[in-house]
Amino acid sequence: MLERKIKMGKEMKGHVLLLPFPAQGHFSPMLQFAKRLASKGLKATIAMTISVTKSSYAEAGGVQVEIISENGYTREGVHGSFKDVGSRVLLSIIEKNRYSSDAVTCIVYDSICPWALEVAKENGLFGASFFSQSCSVNYIFYQVSRGIIGLPVEETVSSIPGLPPLEISELPTFVSDLEVYKVALDLFLGQFSNLDKADSVVFNTFDKLESKVVKHMRKLWNVLTIGPAIPSMYLDKRMEGDKDYGLNLFEPSEDPYIKWLNARETGSVIYLSFGSIAVYTNEQMDEVANALRQSNKYFLWVVREEEMIKLPKNFIEETSDKGLVVTWCSQIEVLSHSSIGCFITHCGWNSILEALSLGVPMVTMPNFADQTTNAKFVADIWGAGIWPTADHKRIIKRDKLEASIRNVMEVDIADTIKKNISNFREMTRDAMEIGGSSFLNIENFVKSLQVVRK
Ligand code: UDP
Repeated sequence: MLERKIKMGKEMKGHVLLLPFPAQGHFSPMLQFAKRLASKGLKATIAMTISVTKSSYAEAGGVQVEIISENGYTREGVHGSFKDVGSRVLLSIIEKNRYSSDAVTCIVYDSICPWALEVAKENGLFGASFFSQSCSVNYIFYQVSRGIIGLPVEETVSSIPGLPPLEISELPTFVSDLEVYKVALDLFLGQFSNLDKADSVVFNTFDKLESKVVKHMRKLWNVLTIGPAIPSMYLDKRMEGDKDYGLNLFEPSEDPYIKWLNARETGSVIYLSFGSIAVYTNEQMDEVANALRQSNKYFLWVVREEEMIKLPKNFIEETSDKGLVVTWCSQIEVLSHSSIGCFITHCGWNSILEALSLGVPMVTMPNFADQTTNAKFVADIWGAGIWPTADHKRIIKRDKLEASIRNVMEVDIADTIKKNISNFREMTRDAMEIGGSSFLNIENFVKSLQVVRK
């Protein structure tokens, strides 16, 4: 028995069970983190719902995929039915291995599911909360959750330690637009309900990107910045073959878009994508389409199937000599292509980290959630892009968008943006390289699990 224990201790560093929220922007970075842990000798199991896995995955990059029921797994159900279903699922996976050498030693859960921490603690396990949005945005949510920022916000907020003054329109919309986003706000404030009990608080960001606010947050929790959590082959290349996230909510287009990009000159193509959830009005889509026409530049535009109807009539046919519209693509592969000179983005946190990692200047078109605050950082704090001014109806008009495209791709300020973005590119690599801040934090995470096992 003793011999077996010693053997186990030597061979197995622990078993991490990960529970992401089943949205593309949430599970992709958590899966990347899981792959990193697996590459360090830990066993990693990620619990994914059927619609994400399409029942076909047993393993992704060394990470075991446990397929779980869809039942209750919705944003509205996160603290109701999903809490029940999710807690049961976690427990059943823990039970399955409890007395084996594969026993679960740690739960990493999406920060919007704080009840998973209770499951970890009730079972004597290490519990780590995983945040898939920036430290800055979450520090705002934290301040609101503690009543330090009172609601409704009626003027510029200049009092948040480590953050610049933020106008109302630069706050996350869940905070600035209470009428529309009450449910979502509760969900994001709930992240802090028991966070003081978490052993680690993991963020998909890197120290240098948000250094001031990270310092303040470290006074509250054991904050580990582990990002950018993008496929390794685009950064440190230490995980051979890790070229994509591995799981997609949408089928990538069969159009030969990479071949199409191969035929374009360096920095000549605009890439547009609004992520997996954002919904723009018909008017906004029309303005974007016309800005593209006016710019007369090449473009690759991801328009999800259900949004296609919003394109102006015959747009695809009429612009086919200049552009390609696809319903989904491998964004990371596209952003790394030398032909891309500008990324028109909705400012989802993953998209921004990808653009910074791959050195692509941005034009920001935030839609909702954290995207407004992210756009503020891209444009005003990091100088990595331009946020065109919207009109009184929050529409970015074609002329403004076209001017921003030209500013990013052609004229003088493009040089400053390009210089800044290339610095960020270096910084992302430094963070993930051996000895870098994110590298060390991942090492520390693994080490702290060894302590738990002693
Ligand atoms: N993405 C992709 N193909 C596309 C559009 C997006 O692979 O055609 C990926 C993108 O690389 C990113 C994720 O989907 O990793 C979107 O996450 P993000 O946080 O940017 O936005 P969200 O979808 O959560 O709003």
